[in-house]
Amino acid sequence: MSFPYEAPVSQSLFDRASAVTPGGVNSPVRAFRAVGGTPRFMVSGTGPYLTDADGREYVDLVCSWGPMILGHSHPEVIAAVQEAVARGTSFGTPGAGEVELAEEIVARIEPVEQVRLVSSGTEATMSAIRLARGFTGRPKVIKFAGCYHGHVDALLAAAGSGVATFGLPDTPGVTGAQAGDTIVLPYNDLEAVRAAFAAHPGEIACVITEASPGNMGVVPPLPGFNQGLKDLCAAGGALYISDEVMTGFRVSKAGWYGIDGVRPDLMTFGKVMGGGFPAAAFGGRADVMAHLAPAGPVYQAGTLSGNPIATAAGVAQLRLLDDAAYEKVDAVSAELRGLVTAALAKEGVAHRLQVAGNMFSVFFTDAEVTDYEAAKAQESFRFTAFFHSMLEQGVYLPPSAFESWFVSTAHDTAAVERIAAALPAAARAAAGATA
Ligand code: PLP
Repeated sequence: MSFPYEAPVSQSLFDRASAVTPGGVNSPVRAFRAVGGTPRFMVSGTGPYLTDADGREYVDLVCSWGPMILGHSHPEVIAAVQEAVARGTSFGTPGAGEVELAEEIVARIEPVEQVRLVSSGTEATMSAIRLARGFTGRPKVIKFAGCYHGHVDALLAAAGSGVATFGLPDTPGVTGAQAGDTIVLPYNDLEAVRAAFAAHPGEIACVITEASPGNMGVVPPLPGFNQGLKDLCAAGGALYISDEVMTGFRVSKAGWYGIDGVRPDLMTFGKVMGGGFPAAAFGGRADVMAHLAPAGPVYQAGTLSGNPIATAAGVAQLRLLDDAAYEKVDAVSAELRGLVTAALAKEGVAHRLQVAGNMFSVFFTDAEVTDYEAAKAQESFRFTAFFHSMLEQGVYLPPSAFESWFVSTAHDTAAVERIAAALPAAARAAAGATA
């Protein structure tokens, strides 16, 4: 397809970037490969808006892939960062900010008795499965097709997100030995999990699942699925790891756990808890966490773990996330969903809006999407046309049909009206798109 809107400054930055960085980006899905065209280089963000290097403003429905739940440049988060940065940027010693952030997490999420801070969601899931293997003395990990847990070698089998976007079922560079202890099963299929436990008695260390997947688009667990996983893990002597890097502190104060109440043995967090800085965590049962160094034998470490700027931003953001903030995000999400579905229905575009708390995504299909195979069966060429129409009209959507859309407390009436004004033309573009 053609891309009517030019972005000369972004294009020139992308050309320079491509000369010095593989594919011109530092995380694949930013490159617009799934939708084509020039990725927009953003220079600033305020509230629900981003401004690109060409001076164009967009309503942001990516929110940095989840973290910016209060919108961009929230004054109290910025003030906390400025106050922290004036005291120094990294000490390599324990600090009060780490204690405060850990206490905030433990206070909000009841199954988390102890928590360890790291710098990315990838580190959190990598460390959690190492701990599960160390604790149980078992090798195998069950994960689900379409669930993305970061770029951990052992978990890059049938992962979603950028891997879904690029159709890489696996990646070169991950050896058979690294992925060989990973069992990949269809999402929402408890029978498959039961069969895997029966086929590998005493060998399964853990089941890791996105608490409610958002990396193949939004595909919530069917009723009873997470509880079933928990029960099968308990019966099979394995740990149940709930990856809440995306849902944690976003879909409720206590994340997806606050919605379904299924108690994991270990949980992983990132995104919102860092307030836009690299902070992430894993935590859970105290008896399991006690196996982590220096308390126990399972090694895990990080030069910048619990960084004082990141923890200051995270604490400030979490403290602002009260019940009223979640009510606001839920309401904006519901309003947008109504607008999107009305616009697509008016043009007769087959679609399904799938929802998990305030996260949602649009699948261009009639059928309910309960697993990765169904997600991949959608008409994603329609998303491409829809995406570019929205972009041209100043609305920034995730540049892939396999991602959740994210909103914030800063998405006010003016921002929603801008989105509403862009939707009719985008829906027409989706209706007229051809494969
Ligand atoms: N787990 C989930 C559910 C995620 O969505 C992501 C990132 O999108 C990760 C883990 C990896 O986090 P990070 O990108 O911070 O390494």
